[in-house]
Amino acid sequence: MTIIDAHTHVLPQYADLAVAVMDRCGVECVLTAEWHDGFGQALEDHLAIFNRHPDRFVVFGNVDFGRINEPGFGGSAAKQMEQDVGRGMRGLKVYKALGLEYRDENGEFWRVNDERLDPIWDMAGRSGIPVLLHTADPPMFWEPVNEDNFWNAVLRGEYAWWSYYRKGFPSREELLAERNEVIKRHPNTLFICPHVGSNASSLDAAADDLDAMPNLYYDLSARIPIMGLPGRRSERAREFLIAYQDRVLFGTDAIYDDTNVPAGVQAQCLRQPGEVPLEDADPLDRYIETTMNFVQSHIDFLTTDRVQIDPPFTRTDRGYSIVGLGLPPDACEKILHQNVRRLLEIS
Ligand SMILES: [Zn+2]
Repeated sequence: MTIIDAHTHVLPQYADLAVAVMDRCGVECVLTAEWHDGFGQALEDHLAIFNRHPDRFVVFGNVDFGRINEPGFGGSAAKQMEQDVGRGMRGLKVYKALGLEYRDENGEFWRVNDERLDPIWDMAGRSGIPVLLHTADPPMFWEPVNEDNFWNAVLRGEYAWWSYYRKGFPSREELLAERNEVIKRHPNTLFICPHVGSNASSLDAAADDLDAMPNLYYDLSARIPIMGLPGRRSERAREFLIAYQDRVLFGTDAIYDDTNVPAGVQAQCLRQPGEVPLEDADPLDRYIETTMNFVQSHIDFLTTDRVQIDPPFTRTDRGYSIVGLGLPPDACEKILHQNVRRLLEIS
């Protein structure tokens, strides 16, 4: 089976490491999203490194949100994008920082649907590149981190800043409404909203959005824990993925960066620092091993009915299991590679 991972973050210095994992897991190609500096000269330098592995990396760049408060930012960012598409950028990645981090000169959050950003979304459409647009997070990030919170083993320590509970952030509903307005206002631009559009725990809402916006796609990254829960969740996930098999992309959100590779545990396993001591292990070997287990778990979830007890990514304190969906072969082929091939014109 051919597999394209439509959501990863590979720092260029770890391109070889990523290829080692891809070769072992049967992943033909990954879409890698630049962290925040994927424009101009840095993007060009990174592309030169990724291109040493022909056909293995599709690179999504960024706009320079560090300049968001400069007058005319939208227009100048769009101009930069046009040049970057000429350099080989295949898509634009926008992080959830839009909505939850960037503030204007008055200290107010930039709204996702601010019209001053429209030139960016327009340029993506005109250049024929999709936007990987992450907005908001799961509902539980806005709720108290107590024993009922499914993310309670994550939303503390290293990741405590992911919790938005009573910290004055915009609500999830506001953010998603603003996002949807952007998508509707730009029908000629393709939007891939990662993590099932931040609606993995409300697949009816996820389905409504797909029905309302033909230019919207999802990736599955980082949400199989919630979609795979035994009983109603996994049954509904199976129905949803069969119904929308043309609109969903396989993705893992695997990360290869300077904080996690030296620690030897795939970042997306979401272990707290020091939780899995390196001891005598070689960090690169263990990064390969933990990332392979992580990726394989995603593939098995879609293609088999295997029950995974304590899958290799942390979520809740109590431990949990996920049930493989065993999707029909046609749906697997579309989700695992055909859809992204079509969207990104990968031959
Ligand atoms: Zn990501």
